[in-house]
Amino acid sequence: MTFKSFNPPQRILMGPGPSDVSARVLSALARPTIGHLDPLFINMMDEVKTLLQYAFQTKNEFTIALSAPGSAGMEACFVNLVEAGDKVIVCRNGVFGERMIENVTRIGAEAIVVDSPWGRAVEIDKVAAALNDNPDAKFLAFVHAETSTGAVSDAQALCKLAQEHECLTIVDAVTSLGGIELKVDEWGIDAIYSGTQKCMSCVPGISPISFSPKAVEVVQNRKTKIQSWFLDQTLVMGYWSGKGKRSYHHTAPVNSLYALHEALIMLHDEGLENSWARHREQHEVLAKGLKELGIEFIVPEDERLPQLNAIYIPDGADDAKVRNYLLEHYNLEIGAGLGAFAGKAWRIGLMGHGAKSENVALCLSALKDALNQ
Ligand SMILES: *Cc1c(COP(=O)(O)O)cnc(C)c1O
Repeated sequence: MTFKSFNPPQRILMGPGPSDVSARVLSALARPTIGHLDPLFINMMDEVKTLLQYAFQTKNEFTIALSAPGSAGMEACFVNLVEAGDKVIVCRNGVFGERMIENVTRIGAEAIVVDSPWGRAVEIDKVAAALNDNPDAKFLAFVHAETSTGAVSDAQALCKLAQEHECLTIVDAVTSLGGIELKVDEWGIDAIYSGTQKCMSCVPGISPISFSPKAVEVVQNRKTKIQSWFLDQTLVMGYWSGKGKRSYHHTAPVNSLYALHEALIMLHDEGLENSWARHREQHEVLAKGLKELGIEFIVPEDERLPQLNAIYIPDGADDAKVRNYLLEHYNLEIGAGLGAFAGKAWRIGLMGHGAKSENVALCLSALKDALNQ
């Protein structure tokens, strides 16, 4: 048997992630691998940290790129902060809120679940009621941008509520980072995690995370040992802390971090606010075009994520056939529905580098063609 090199086609990725990676970031990935304790590499890691602080809008000292995907970032937040027996209020309005509950219960902690309808923002009143009913709750956890439904929640209001009840916040920003307004310090977020393959337009497999000084204090004063060795951030803090003396914890994904460094420079050069505005503008053009095609959004206008457009599959259209047609004829990937929306929705991503006019135009004309076939 002979094997050939794998040469993937050039797709246009307009699904829920991974998003299109620019040539500039891909070329950073192909630079020579150096040792992860090489002084030059350590310098670059320090820059990644500074650039992540900018992206998250935080001064948090503990701001790092976890060597694992967004789901591991989620798990890192929960296993470091939450101990068995703790009470955690978890907001569920889609697939990722559900995963948070799974994290809480596997730790042996108690999840107080606040359900909001799928395709809608987290309902603030319900969260307020849960906080009132559970004065002993230690954490409030929610997803800022629910990629499974395309709904954004009011992270600022939720954090304010949590602070009034002396709860720390754990926030999923996998799809929000770089795509919509997100201000970790101003909003008072305590633990946040993201992913590189959504609005950062970087390769998958890295999760930027950041803990507030209050969250770090909680981690350092735990009664019990963190059950996961790899995700125990007290061990990683030494690895990422500057001061030149870095000790071995695990081998960093060297080339992927080159890519993240490059993607973060691109975000910094563009400017966060400009990136948020670009996502919004492209979303508006897409929404207008979809309306002309008679396609309807799942999420009400003021709760929509610009970077993830969840739409109802039009009557008579075959879900898989249309998506396959787009892939075969246009090299265009859009996302299928997830969870409660499987078979009922498509998810069109306008993330990072992919949030541009030519992609929107292509998506609209390709979709029109596919629906006519
Ligand atoms: C994609 C995503 C995740 C999981 O990230 P992976 O990198 O796939 O592990 C978590 N939360 C949200 C909101 C996401 O969109």
